[in-house]
Amino acid sequence: MHDQPSTLDDYSWPTCGCGRQLRHDELDRVACRPCQERVDGALRQLPGPDGLYARLATRLTPGRGGDGPVVSVSKTAPLPVRLEPLSLLARGGVVTILQTWLVDWHEQLGWRHPRWRGGLQQQLDDAVRALRTNLDWAAAHHPAFTEFATEVTALVRQCERQITGERAERPIAVVCGCGTTLRITVSTPGARCAGCSTQYSRSEVLDLPLAQRAAA
Ligand SMILES: [Zn+2]
Ligand SMILES: [Zn+2]
Repeated sequence: MHDQPSTLDDYSWPTCGCGRQLRHDELDRVACRPCQERVDGALRQLPGPDGLYARLATRLTPGRGGDGPVVSVSKTAPLPVRLEPLSLLARGGVVTILQTWLVDWHEQLGWRHPRWRGGLQQQLDDAVRALRTNLDWAAAHHPAFTEFATEVTALVRQCERQITGERAERPIAVVCGCGTTLRITVSTPGARCAGCSTQYSRSEVLDLPLAQRAAA
């Protein structure tokens, strides 16, 4: 919805995916600068030996620090590790999600597929560095920047929660005009309907009617 150039007689001022109207000096961009800064701040928290990703490893053992409930697959055999930090740490988690975006950006830019080197921590550090290096380009030109921003900030929040032991935000189910149910949280920056592709800003999505049964 951002790739349509607006004409002078068109009074729908271009907006960022977060719902903010773009400023004059942002009109050639997909996303507003506060959104770009928000994602950059989220990305910055992940890498390095003291970053959120490295600290996830300290949360794998149940009972440490007396945090949340231990996940168990069956009542009789509790797992010796907590699944949520593990699923964020392992391949398929944080590193893979960031690398998937990086591959997508390389494709958009016509660059060769990025190469991964080293273990997961190094791959994480490298992916964060590469994404941050090209963040300005992405916020200006990537049609899915809002999806990227939403996914990364949610991911970082998930890591934070594992480390602080804070409880997960309750998901809320709301219904789009097309009948599709969207699952959001109160801190969502915005959402896109999977049914009709309508992009909602944060205030718009929070205004949608609640679904009958909020599912977890
Ligand atoms: Zn924005
Ligand atoms: Zn819809």
